[in-house]
Amino acid sequence: MRLSERQLKIVELVKSSSPMTGEQIASKLKLTRATLRPDLAILTMTGVLEARPRVGYFYKEEKARSPIAEKMHQLRVGDFKSMAAAVKENISIYDAVVSMFTNNVGSLIVINEKRELRGMVSRKDILKATLGKIDLHQVPIGVIMTRMPNIIMVTSDESVLDAARKLVQHQIDTLPVVENYINEEGNEVYEVVGRFTKTNITNLFVELGG
Ligand code: ADP
Repeated sequence: MRLSERQLKIVELVKSSSPMTGEQIASKLKLTRATLRPDLAILTMTGVLEARPRVGYFYKEEKARSPIAEKMHQLRVGDFKSMAAAVKENISIYDAVVSMFTNNVGSLIVINEKRELRGMVSRKDILKATLGKIDLHQVPIGVIMTRMPNIIMVTSDESVLDAARKLVQHQIDTLPVVENYINEEGNEVYEVVGRFTKTNITNLFVELGG
């Protein structure tokens, strides 16, 4: 979560002299107590400050993060994502295999004509399909893909660490990077703007180490 400028000022104040009452913080910042109330509520709800009745606000000591952990929190997916290797759901499984080779990827993001996210097809989905007696030239990937709303995704402003956690937690290789908005029909849609993969993380790791 990003703190506002005023919230950062409050944190700095309380850090330098805990405990502080709401009135003390307000007078230091030359604001009214009422103006500060929403900020103090956010800071206590998110656990940055601790409020003790009749005593005041305390800064909750964070465990010191290592420099690399700090960096991982700061780096944003948008700065490290790749172009999306995206296909339409009516292409055949055979063409999906060709697309995986030409794009040098292990998973394809499936979109509609408006670039909205529809699903994902991975190597294993295709291998599984080849075990059955199906015509790879005829069957569209829409039949074998993992589809919305079961797709795990990220937005460009999420941290690289949060994205890496999603990859680990869901045991997947690729996250579509999306921008979400409400379309004319009032539905929430996810426009695909890239992909973020284990390879992006490996590259970043090498970059940080070099
Ligand atoms: P592989 O099949 O090469 O092991 P993954 O581990 O990425 O590749 O995929 C495992 C399964 O998860 C597949 O069935 C695939 O369709 C699905 N999958 C892949 N990416 C996602 C995602 N971002 N969200 C939800 N499911 C996914």
